[in-house]
Amino acid sequence: MLTFENVSQHYGSFRALNGISLHAKEGELVVLLGANGAGKSTIFLTASGLLRATGGSIRFRNQELAGLKASQVVERGVVLCPEGRKLFPQMSVLKNLMLGAYVHRGDKAGNQRKLQEVFELFPILAERREQTAGSLSGGQQQMVAIGRALMGRPQALLLDEPSLGLAPLVVKQVFEVIQRINRAGTTVLLAEQNAYAALKIASRAYVIESGRIVMEGDRDTLLGNDTIRKAYIGA
Ligand code: ATP
Repeated sequence: MLTFENVSQHYGSFRALNGISLHAKEGELVVLLGANGAGKSTIFLTASGLLRATGGSIRFRNQELAGLKASQVVERGVVLCPEGRKLFPQMSVLKNLMLGAYVHRGDKAGNQRKLQEVFELFPILAERREQTAGSLSGGQQQMVAIGRALMGRPQALLLDEPSLGLAPLVVKQVFEVIQRINRAGTTVLLAEQNAYAALKIASRAYVIESGRIVMEGDRDTLLGNDTIRKAYIGA
């Protein structure tokens, strides 16, 4: 179980998160909806130790994450796939993937097994493993970003806008992969602008506005909610 309790975050004096409380149960796929600037990325950066929470508690399987370094958060099983992919474009696909395994660098056999799993999930990356990441299509680069996160061996995976800027067919593939990862047992917290597709594969969702949670509910309740449909689904 991943739990945020009254988490706050500031950029200077600007309060980006204002008492965020949310949770994802073991094996759940939970979606964070919200307009640009609502605070979704800040939630992820704070959970993954890239920003230090200015208040509150973030726990995974009863261990406190707030205050840990990013590498320690990965060691505890919580891994971020960041918005905008953040690949090293001049480095090969393989090297980008292996960066995700940095905290497990002592376990070469385990990393090879994990790499095979990533290649089974994304066969195209096996074919292109020696190519530079920057030479791949947007969708393939997103696969590298997800694959790199998987190399960190997540028990909870934080996915920030994985479908951003991708063509509809590729978006569909990305959502199918996320669903497969989740069905194989990984808890997923997914921030998405693509609200309909995200809700379809989610069990629950939270709606964030100006750093606060303004609504939460299970998939069907939110899919049927007029405000949600108008604001996020455009139907
Ligand atoms: P997006 O999908 O556009 O990334 P988001 O919901 O992820 O939106 P955040 O990136 O978390 O939103 O931003 C939350 C708020 O914090 C916004 O008002 C944003 O302008 C502000 N913010 C984000 N990063 C910084 C920063 N480094 N310095 C100052 N303010 C920031």
